[in-house]
Amino acid sequence: MAAVQNQTPILPKLNPTDFQIPTLGECTFPTPPTRSEIISENERILYQSRFSDPSKLNPSLAFEVAGLRDHMFFDPHDINVGIVTCGGLCPGLNDVIRAITYSSLGYGVKKVYGFKFGYRGLSRQGRSYILLDTKNVNTIHYIGGSFLGSSRGPVPPEEMIETLKLLKISVLFTIGGDGTQRGAKFLQDKITEMGEKISVIGIPKTIDNDILYVDKTFGFDTAVEKAREAIICAHVEAKSAPHGLSIVKLMGRDSGFISAKATLASGDVNICLIPEEPFTLEALFKAVESRLLRQNHCVIVVAEGAGAELMAKIQPPVKDASGNLKGGDIGVFLKEQIQAHFKKLDMECTTRYIDPSYTIRACQPNASDAAFCEELGNKAVNSALSGKTGCIVGFWNQQFTLVPFSLITRGRKMVQLDEHMWCTVKAMTTDVTGRQ
Ligand code: ATP
Ligand code: MG
Repeated sequence: MAAVQNQTPILPKLNPTDFQIPTLGECTFPTPPTRSEIISENERILYQSRFSDPSKLNPSLAFEVAGLRDHMFFDPHDINVGIVTCGGLCPGLNDVIRAITYSSLGYGVKKVYGFKFGYRGLSRQGRSYILLDTKNVNTIHYIGGSFLGSSRGPVPPEEMIETLKLLKISVLFTIGGDGTQRGAKFLQDKITEMGEKISVIGIPKTIDNDILYVDKTFGFDTAVEKAREAIICAHVEAKSAPHGLSIVKLMGRDSGFISAKATLASGDVNICLIPEEPFTLEALFKAVESRLLRQNHCVIVVAEGAGAELMAKIQPPVKDASGNLKGGDIGVFLKEQIQAHFKKLDMECTTRYIDPSYTIRACQPNASDAAFCEELGNKAVNSALSGKTGCIVGFWNQQFTLVPFSLITRGRKMVQLDEHMWCTVKAMTTDVTGRQ
């Protein structure tokens, strides 16, 4: 069989300098007695953990470790910090806001500003914030969404710096996806250019788990769990109708991790479509037809970005406020195409279309994500107090890392078609690439 071609762009070769985290300066303030783990400045987490020839391992390709150092750059009693959440909703946003607030105030930070509705809250015109304290964030983790609200659309970095200086904010925590961290990079570049001592630390939020050089982002586990519940219901629906077909559309604009994992987790999916692997309508029709004739029911899982090239021929994509390309609804498209096909054949096909996306995005995180958010928030505060800036708090090989904005904004993490996860999905489902 020919080697599988992934659409993942080839990423540039990594150099040791790519892993360097910018710092605001020398840490001179002795860290007060704390229960947090103290990280030595030389500790690293290896980038590569799988190898066949140990002599080719390069230990210089390694991430810095997130967390507290034995000295701090900031005296926490002297500073204010800010938090902003941008982009789409994701389970765990409130947990991270709460963790950052508690951790900052625990160190004696004077004020924690929560900016309202994304970067807009830091703009000149839309400046809006609330002061966060242990009372008003105490129970926000019981609910989904963002306590601070969120938005899309750019804000000039000069305006954001003006707001940060006005409120005497020394650290800004940016909770958001790839767009948010690109915005944070622009902001940090401008801060450096202006010689200001303000740290910008990102906490990556992507329900799709598509941030480069980060194994896992918060909300992903919850999304897979909820997606699995939707698939189980879709399966029941399909089995309950003559020639029942259920189509479940899941999140995944560019990367199909949620669809792939939920397929593995449910065991009920017959066809799984993700953006990384093109498919043909002819092969899809054939697969559905043969399943309905053999088994009387069929479940299709489709990631929102799958089949973009098929859709673009009919509905050209448009851009949202942040410049992200938005095509039509692939679930609706597939439903209409399949229904038209079976009508032509004069064959019965009872189609149900299920889109749980918004209910998943807005729900409360599961226990594992909630615990993860708590650690992320604490690691973010610890790293910021140590003078780190221009980076996100990542998770790699089961450890909390620091990853420069410049590294994660190079591209997007995608499902590797020749690796174990996708191969297992393929073994459980029917191929519709038209190649077999
Ligand atoms: P998600 O896509 O997961 O919902 P996101 O963080 O990628 O989250 P976006 O709407 O793309 O969501 O971006 C969030 C914020 O970041 C928006 O206010 C957007 O304008 C800003 N932003 C995105 N790209 C840039 C950029 N290159 N420079 C400055 N700001 C940016
Ligand atoms: Mg995005």
